[in-house]
Amino acid sequence: MAKCVIIGAGPAGMSAALYLKRAGIDVLLIEKDVPGGEMLKTNKIENYLGFMEIDGGELALKMSAQLKNLGISIVKDKVLKVSKEDKFKIETEKEHLVADYVIVATGRVPRKLGLEDEDKLLNRGISYCAVCDGAFYRNLDVAVIGGGDSALTEALYLADLCHKVYVVVRKDLRASDVLKSRIKAKDNIIILKNVEVVGLDYNDSLSQVRLSDGEKLSVSGMFIAIGGVPILDFLDFDLETVNGYIKTNERMESNVKGLYAVGDVRYKDFYQIITAASDGAIAALSIREDV
Ligand code: NDP
Repeated sequence: MAKCVIIGAGPAGMSAALYLKRAGIDVLLIEKDVPGGEMLKTNKIENYLGFMEIDGGELALKMSAQLKNLGISIVKDKVLKVSKEDKFKIETEKEHLVADYVIVATGRVPRKLGLEDEDKLLNRGISYCAVCDGAFYRNLDVAVIGGGDSALTEALYLADLCHKVYVVVRKDLRASDVLKSRIKAKDNIIILKNVEVVGLDYNDSLSQVRLSDGEKLSVSGMFIAIGGVPILDFLDFDLETVNGYIKTNERMESNVKGLYAVGDVRYKDFYQIITAASDGAIAALSIREDV
């Protein structure tokens, strides 16, 4: 039994844990992987207040060390189901827990393009994370799919490793101006607008990407960065959502009493590390008022 169970140790979940612990509320933080979430896939963070530039993994370590220092342990386990009777019942791979409050901070998984052979070519040319897999494509040509901040961040990282980086955008870029100007300054990044990927050619691994305008890109790697799909399939509730994301009020409360959502799993306008941390703090402070 814990007063509050937080599911997911990205910046949103860790921030919620910090605030709850400091408010004297008994909290249990569960993470199926390593703490850090999406930060672990980012090599250079330049827009988190207090750090001119920091590696995502390093920032994640600093956050988890801060929790450890306060005596908060991050339990490595996977939540399978959350339901509610009088209290919340949290079923994990290892145990059954009961809590008065649950904060969902599970983030999202990368969206797939939905191409035939996309799954088959995973790790054989297709990747969803440049920081994780970019080194396999050193001095080779690659394509990045998407026109948002993630796609351009991936392209900039790859441009320092790869020979040529094509960015395939189905309409126009929607990334921030600072990223767009950095892309312009790289002469090995080629932006292709108003085109989509329609097919993949491969032998053992990816060799060619076919585009909707009839062009073919000879590339060894394709990095897909077209947004994400929120992870909430373990929630056994009639949950209100918007575009698949959990709908909350300004206090981070969902339509289920006692169930809060923070970070990338929540429907909102801006998905940033600092807004995730802010969501976590708000949820924790709302619970403190409610207890
Ligand atoms: P976004 O939703 O912002 O962008 C997704 C991109 O993928 C768009 O260009 C979209 O095109 C395209 N897309 C979607 N589906 C398809 C498809 N089926 N085929 C081809 N293209 C497709 O996602 P991001 O992951 O880039 O960013 C998510 C959030 O995280 C944003 O709020 C962003 O600002 C934030 N972020 C911030 C960073 C930073 O501050 N440095 C770094 C990374 C992310 P279309 O426009 O046509 O829909």
